[in-house]
Parts: sequence; structure tokens; C-alpha cells
Amino acid sequence: MNHLEIQGLTKRFDLSSPPAVHDVSFQLKTGEILGLLGPSGCGKTTTLRMIAGFTPPDGGEIFLEGASVASLPPERRRIGFVFQDYALFPNKTVLDNVIFALHRKKRPLRKNRARDLLALVGLSREEHRFPHELSGGQQQRVALARTLAAEPELILLDEPFSNLDAALRESTRADVRSLLKCAEMSAILVTHDQEEALSFCDTLGVMNAGTLEQTGTPEEIYLNPRTAFVAQFLGRANLLRGTATGSTARTDLGEIAIHPATDGSVLLSLRPEHLTLLPLTEANSPDDPPRITSREFRGHDLTYRVKFRNREFLVHTDYTCDYPPGSAVALAPRRPGVVLQEPGLCFRGL
Ligand code: ATP
Repeated sequence: MNHLEIQGLTKRFDLSSPPAVHDVSFQLKTGEILGLLGPSGCGKTTTLRMIAGFTPPDGGEIFLEGASVASLPPERRRIGFVFQDYALFPNKTVLDNVIFALHRKKRPLRKNRARDLLALVGLSREEHRFPHELSGGQQQRVALARTLAAEPELILLDEPFSNLDAALRESTRADVRSLLKCAEMSAILVTHDQEEALSFCDTLGVMNAGTLEQTGTPEEIYLNPRTAFVAQFLGRANLLRGTATGSTARTDLGEIAIHPATDGSVLLSLRPEHLTLLPLTEANSPDDPPRITSREFRGHDLTYRVKFRNREFLVHTDYTCDYPPGSAVALAPRRPGVVLQEPGLCFRGL
């Protein structure tokens, strides 16, 4: 059985504008971390708030362990919510912030349980400090300990790392992920940061304008985006038009392999690292060949911008594939182009 199942969740705040969330369905297994990813305003927080019970849906169902939670108020859903600003009590110590969330436990047990939770998040030595005496990452971990104290069945995290600087964000993210995994806790993370989604989550749901465009593992979505929006939101993508016959298509880059096989006019996605640069030969030399407009050394790879037929291709290669800016080159795919579904088309960068 799925731990959480969402069916057709819909919310319209205002009749004169489109729904903030439209017909969203997904499932979450026990212990799984799902990332809801999408640009600002696409409906991520509204989805989370409906699951938590803070915002009533206009349609759809939410099942936790197979039972509908529709009629339950937030405090009876056993769902923990970690807010972006942590929402700690500023006038309570770290220990008291956690003890406050242990009101279900018998009074004599509360202090020890709070100390266990602070040990779990690595903050035993900070128990007498006040929130303003902690770093952002430490405050984040107190917020998590406090949420775990209520023994929720599911944790919802709304952009919990966005107030941390880049280095702290990475380490806090890794700590929180291993804490959730140790506790076998199911969680949903809302983020608009693709790197965060890829590194923190077991599965992802990419949202666009209130709808869920694609769900799957990070690898599935990255390697097989279903739409141009998903291809461009999760990573970088070169979009290319072509005419398909089975598993090949005629494109500006010549005849290239595609998948899945299809026939007719297609829009294809090629990741920058799935293209490479080759020296020009007589066989691959058109009248006006692709030309490198910029070359950036980025440590682990080289990033080229290549102009060809009035458009720009982005290419990531390893540093052995080295050409100076201005060189004429051949552009060659190293993997099949992914055939995209056309609705949601957005020609960014074309
Ligand atoms: P962000 O990443 O900026 O937090 P989001 O993806 O979480 O965005 P939501 O906060 O869910 O997006 O908002 C989705 C849409 O619903 C937006 O157009 C927003 O303006 C609208 N909205 C959200 N809450 C309300 C509300 N209480 N009343 C009216 N409109 C709302």
C-alpha cells in the first residue's frame, strides 16, 4: 500500500484566474522522499498546504495509509510541516522549543525525549541556547527535531534550505536526508532548486502552472523528459526540430538517432553533455559549418556555445575535447535525441 496517495487534487483561489493546482495525482511509498519541483507560483506550496490540511481543496482526495484525511483538521493528520522560516519560538531555548512539541508525551518523559532528538540532529551542546544564538543550519535542525517530536507519519518541507548560504545548504541537506532515512520517514520537499531536488529526493514531480507535468526518479526525468518545459527546467537542453522515420530523424544536425521511435514532425531534446564536437572533415562539412562562439573551462568539463544556422547549441565535453573560440567544428550527438510531447512547448534559447 502507498503511504500517501493524492488523487486529482485541485484548488482555485479566485474564479477569474486559472486554478492554482489542477488535477494533481501522485503516490508516496513509506520512507520515500518526493521532491515537488517547479518555478515560482506553479502551485507547490498550495499542494503541500492541502496535504497538511491548512488549505481546503476544491476537489480531489488525500489518503494517508489508505484512509482519507479530508475530514481531519491539521493537528489530527499526523503530518509535520517544516516551514521556510523554521517558525521557532524566539523566547524559548532550543530544548524548550523541542519539549513544547512533546505535549502528547507524559511530562516526566519529555525532557529525555527532547534530548534524544537533539542528539539525533547533533545539537546536544546547544540545548540551552536561544534560536538567535544559532546559525541558520542549526535553527533548521532544531525545527526538524521539533517536527520529529510530534511523531508524524509524514514530513512536509517547504523550501527548508533556502535561507542558508551555499556551503551550509549542501551540508544541512545531506544531514537532513540521512536523518529522514535513519528514521524511515516519508517526506515531501518543495523546492525550485533543481540541484537540491536531484540530490535530496528519491522521486520527483515537476509542476508547471498548477499541473504535474512528470513524475519519476531524478534519472528518469533527467534522461527522458516528457515535455520541453521539463527538459529545460531540470537541467539544460538543446531543443531541435526534425522529421522522424522510426528511430531516426532528419534534423539540422543531419540524420540522428531518436527515442522513442515515431513518425512525422518531432521536437527533440539533447542534453549539452549528449552532444560532442568533432573536427570538420569533407564528409561532415556544410557550407556554413557550426562555429564556436565561446569556450568556458569549468574544472570538470568544458562548456561551449556553438552557433549553427542562426541558433545556439550548448555543449559540455570533457577537457580533452579542446577547441579555441572561433573554430569551425562538427556537432555530433552521443545519445539519441528524446522525442518530446508538444503541449507546454516553450522555445527558450532557440
Ligand atoms: P513559490 O515557489 O513562489 O513559493 P509556489 O509554486 O509554491 O510558488 P503557490 O504558493 O502554491 O506557488 O501559489 C500558486 C498560485 O496560487 C499563485 O498564483 C499564487 O499567487 C496563488 N495563491 C497562493 N495562495 C493564495 C491565496 N491564499 N489566495 C489567493 N491566491 C493564492
